[in-house]
Amino acid sequence: MNGQQILGLHHITAIAGDAQRNYDFYTKTMGLRMVKKTVNFDDPGTYHFYYGNEQGTPGTILTFFPWEGIGQGRTGTGMATEIGYSVPAGSLDFWKDRFTRLNVPFTDVNERFGETCFSFTDSDGLNLALLVPKEADNREGWETGEIKGDVATRGFHSATLSLVKIDPTAKVLTDIFGYRLLSQEGNRYRFITDATPNAAIIDLLELPDGKPGRNAAGTNHHIAFRVANEADQMEYREKVLSKGLQITQKIDRDYFFSLYFREPGGVLFEIATDNPGFTVDEPLAELGSHLKLPRQFEPARADIERILPPLHQ
Ligand code: ZN
Repeated sequence: MNGQQILGLHHITAIAGDAQRNYDFYTKTMGLRMVKKTVNFDDPGTYHFYYGNEQGTPGTILTFFPWEGIGQGRTGTGMATEIGYSVPAGSLDFWKDRFTRLNVPFTDVNERFGETCFSFTDSDGLNLALLVPKEADNREGWETGEIKGDVATRGFHSATLSLVKIDPTAKVLTDIFGYRLLSQEGNRYRFITDATPNAAIIDLLELPDGKPGRNAAGTNHHIAFRVANEADQMEYREKVLSKGLQITQKIDRDYFFSLYFREPGGVLFEIATDNPGFTVDEPLAELGSHLKLPRQFEPARADIERILPPLHQ
């Protein structure tokens, strides 16, 4: 065996409608830090927003393509259907009060694998959850004026994937990525990697009669798994190919390097590196405060800035 391991989740990417509404929800309601404001590298007339902790540490990064007027998607099988954030013990009442005041829809508090949690939806109807992990999450949360460190989200706890049949996806997690089945509750199967203490959980929800999801506003686009560097990433590329699956070449995303493949259950997976990180083109204190463009689009900056909707930060 080589030393490389999948280090849990790197980032999750979802689709939003209105850019300003998405920005307000994640930075104000949720209190995340915008760590990068850039454009969709494949469609530079559209923003790409990254939200996370202070540094945008892998395992805390939620990203959005806000496409104005895209219409509502449908959450269903073959996609990630819930994004779980880890929060400190005792903070759920704070979040319930806050969501009540800000008209964020949320469920009753319940238990999942012995952990208290509740679910809620963002301003586009995207499914999220707050979960209190059994073992305290030692990651530092980003503080805002209204959300202090004792209640702030710590980063991802888990992602849930909905599937007609879990077996082919489970095999990717166990045989390629090194996860193991931890526990089962009804049709929810919890997989975990021991390679990292955080963002280490993937829940597979088996829905034999589930309708396929449709990607548009309020749905997840892909989930990215974390590797330390490009050498490890290339070893995973070989592993994926050896299982007879298609996978892209390495793509430079400026803040990490990416590989993409569609797992047999239909979910788009990415394998993304820690390097080089978000401080590659902005100092830590200024992350997210400037519109950053990949080098190839710099000559078109004026046009791009004119097309993008204004964003009040
Ligand atoms: Zn991605």
